[in-house]
Amino acid sequence: MKALVYNGVGKVALEERPLPTIQKPGDAVVKMVYSTICGSDLHIIKGDVPTVSPGRVLGHEGVGIVTSTGASVSNFAAGDLVLVGCITVCSTCAHCRRGMHSNCTGGGGWVLGHTVDGTQAQFVRIPHADNSLYRVPEAVGKKADDLKALVMVSDALPTGLECGAQNARLAPGSSVVIVGAGPVGLAALITAQLYSPGFVVVVDLDQERLDVARGMGAQYTAKPDQAKELVMRLTEGRGADAVMEVVGVPQTFELCQELVAPGGVLANVGVHGEKVDLHLETLWSRNISITTRLVDTVTTPMLLKLFAAKKLPAEKLITHGFSFADILNAYSTFRAASTTKALKVIIDFEQDVQGASGTGVRQNKL
Ligand SMILES: [Zn+2]
Ligand SMILES: [Zn+2]
Repeated sequence: MKALVYNGVGKVALEERPLPTIQKPGDAVVKMVYSTICGSDLHIIKGDVPTVSPGRVLGHEGVGIVTSTGASVSNFAAGDLVLVGCITVCSTCAHCRRGMHSNCTGGGGWVLGHTVDGTQAQFVRIPHADNSLYRVPEAVGKKADDLKALVMVSDALPTGLECGAQNARLAPGSSVVIVGAGPVGLAALITAQLYSPGFVVVVDLDQERLDVARGMGAQYTAKPDQAKELVMRLTEGRGADAVMEVVGVPQTFELCQELVAPGGVLANVGVHGEKVDLHLETLWSRNISITTRLVDTVTTPMLLKLFAAKKLPAEKLITHGFSFADILNAYSTFRAASTTKALKVIIDFEQDVQGASGTGVRQNKL
């Protein structure tokens, strides 16, 4: 099979690899239908994630069809159309039992495309398949555009919801600021609206991304240097109830500290590669909470129901599509987002979903 392989800092290539096989009783092998590229894949290629060894197949998102299962897999069988969760869940370790799947110590957590081979390949082995795959709801159907949009439920949407909207403790009427309008910031914007906030301000340097945010429901947008004035004007000088940092650099984390109201929450979503200043000299007396988290995919079943009910405009996060053979171009386009205007790019393995198995692909009834 063909796979997109990380070969050390700055180097990726499309290579021939042996087909993955069942190694443990809980494994499943999935034939990929659609995948995508994540910002963390770019971090890996830059050398920011030293836990990824050269030779690793990248990717932790996608939709596919189960082709084989280990002896202990009971929820899935060959022919099942499935969503691959970006987090692998052993379900029995102390962290998993608290719902902190990203901290799994039983062979799960963020392992796909990190410490085991991932989803940017024609086939992928999924450890702990019973807890880490999700059958595509029957109401979603098998149309290509719907299954492409569903890929956003692997990572972008649960990250926006869990690390953003939930960790920022949104409530009806909340004043909300989202700093960073990349795919995850926009996923936070989409999921924030599930809470009926009073208003959402989206902050970014890129005017086109701000325009996209308006189209996705942001009432206000601002460049970073105008954000404080706008937020203070909208909140009679108090600041915002909920501020989400979705960039991952010191300047934006510092800006968020200036925007949060007394009693408010600063939810960090961004992946930080360097230390930032924490201004306790101004924050200590103001009842501020700062929250951090890696996505746990605990909301994936809920997001699947919302998606099936057509209440998640996930397709708005997708700007480009590429065949798998053209994945290196997909990387170039995604990396040059400021000029290509890319948000999420879909990788199409050009599989026939309708004819996936003799009896048809099995899906969930809701
Ligand atoms: Zn990701
Ligand atoms: Zn675990």
